[in-house]
Amino acid sequence: MHDCIFCKIVKGEIPSYKVYEDPDFMAFLDIKPINKGHVLVISKKHYRWTWDVPEFEEYWKVIKKITKALIKGLHAERVQYITLGETVPHAHVHVVPRYKDDGLKSLPDWDKSKEFLADEMKNISDKIIGQI
Ligand code: 5GP
Ligand code: ZN
Repeated sequence: MHDCIFCKIVKGEIPSYKVYEDPDFMAFLDIKPINKGHVLVISKKHYRWTWDVPEFEEYWKVIKKITKALIKGLHAERVQYITLGETVPHAHVHVVPRYKDDGLKSLPDWDKSKEFLADEMKNISDKIIGQI
């Protein structure tokens, strides 16, 4: 896609610290990392959202590969996944290694004060079940 930063990274027009590439996917370090070894995993083809990527299972296999490398290579204690897509409109999963006492708050730091009554919860779950 024209003017998409991540499409430019795929084409090599913008440099990146690439850690993985195969015919469909690519992974590189986030330019503004949350933590040491914060990786973005993208589909090489431009899609807006992660769920638009047709090879979804393959996508998660790549994410798992990166996860294991972060655990073995950087000694991450655990790994977290975030998919926000609020600034770059090219499907990407943030793969964030966490280390003991790394000082980060739980991510994302969302307010969880919304409340729904029992019948609303039932109605919401029925609407989802109806589409599965
Ligand atoms: P989101 O769209 O999920 O909110 O965030 C996009 C992410 O892409 C951000 O964490 C940002 O630091 C990263 N990012 C934006 N531009 C570049 C870039 O040119 N190179 C790299 N490696 N990461 C980028
Ligand atoms: Zn793109």
